[in-house]
Amino acid sequence: MVISNSLSGLHILVTGGAGFIGSHVTDRLIEIGNKVTVFDNMSSGRMEFIEHNLKNPKFKLIVGELLDTHAIEKACKDIDFVFHIAANPDVRLGAVDTKVHFDQNITATYNVLEAMRKNEVKNIAFTSTSTVYGEAEIIPTPENYGPLVPISLYGASKLACEALITSYSHTFDMNSWIFRFANIIGDRGTHGIIVDFIEKLRKDPAELEILGDGKQSKSYLHVKECVDAMMFSVSNSDREVNIFNIGSEDATNPTRIGEIIVEEMGLDNVKFNYTGGSRGWKGDVPKMMLSINILKELGWKNEWGSQKSVRETIKALLSSK
Ligand code: NAD
Repeated sequence: MVISNSLSGLHILVTGGAGFIGSHVTDRLIEIGNKVTVFDNMSSGRMEFIEHNLKNPKFKLIVGELLDTHAIEKACKDIDFVFHIAANPDVRLGAVDTKVHFDQNITATYNVLEAMRKNEVKNIAFTSTSTVYGEAEIIPTPENYGPLVPISLYGASKLACEALITSYSHTFDMNSWIFRFANIIGDRGTHGIIVDFIEKLRKDPAELEILGDGKQSKSYLHVKECVDAMMFSVSNSDREVNIFNIGSEDATNPTRIGEIIVEEMGLDNVKFNYTGGSRGWKGDVPKMMLSINILKELGWKNEWGSQKSVRETIKALLSSK
């Protein structure tokens, strides 16, 4: 079944639906008229992100593990569409634990695809990443850039997931939407540079450790716009495999992000200490901006640039618990 232009009235399984991006996707899918089952092992997902839906008859929560093939197979029964969002998103972790991304991303995605095949679920949306491009020589980087040479185990695992999804799409007549995200930020964020900086400054308001030289230039997009772009893409494309970059059209850097957090926290005379080097950690891509021309040509518009997205996220995170 091709879903084009009708992302409504469906029963949708959202893996990772209790996490940062997944919980926003869940809210939106319900809002536009779908029934949503969230499948999440609650490793980084939080009950507070989904509890407002618990009494909604259009919502169901399965606390389950994607490495448990029986559990995911059972969850895919009578499902029209899977938004496969669960993953271990910690890029840095790959340098100290070489198995985690293989298991949580590649094996988990294989299990989702097998569960879909066995239950004849024909549609999958997948949250991939800019890190599949590695250190791209063309910036903004378009979707058809190649060769894809990831430099982190996380990026490698997501590229492997993309390959599994595209080959399952062809072999088993599925439709897939693959989203390569820039840095996605916003309320309910639980990890990443803004969360790190706020935590560090709460512990010590006099100093801020910044990984690298503070000049890494990356693009940021607010989660609300990210979800808009995902819904827009699914509703406006119906090829067997649909690959979209999702990001904003500018970039900012860690020093500027540190300055905005200092301003918003009302701090003064904070000393920035740089760990040095052009990248923050092994596998960090120091320059990243995605071309979003394909989405724009289809009619989607990015409204907030990186700095506005960063400031709004900081305000939201500072005012939450
Ligand atoms: P997150 O950690 O908040 O969400 C991941 C969710 O998946 C959590 O709720 C977690 O409990 C669940 N989960 C993890 N492993 C699971 C398993 N084995 N079984 C069941 N549930 C499991 O992360 P996020 O930032 O919301 O990221 C969501 C997706 O977007 C991920 O696929 C990530 O790789 C991708 N992505 C995120 C960003 C970003 O900037 N946040 C950028 C690029 C791609």
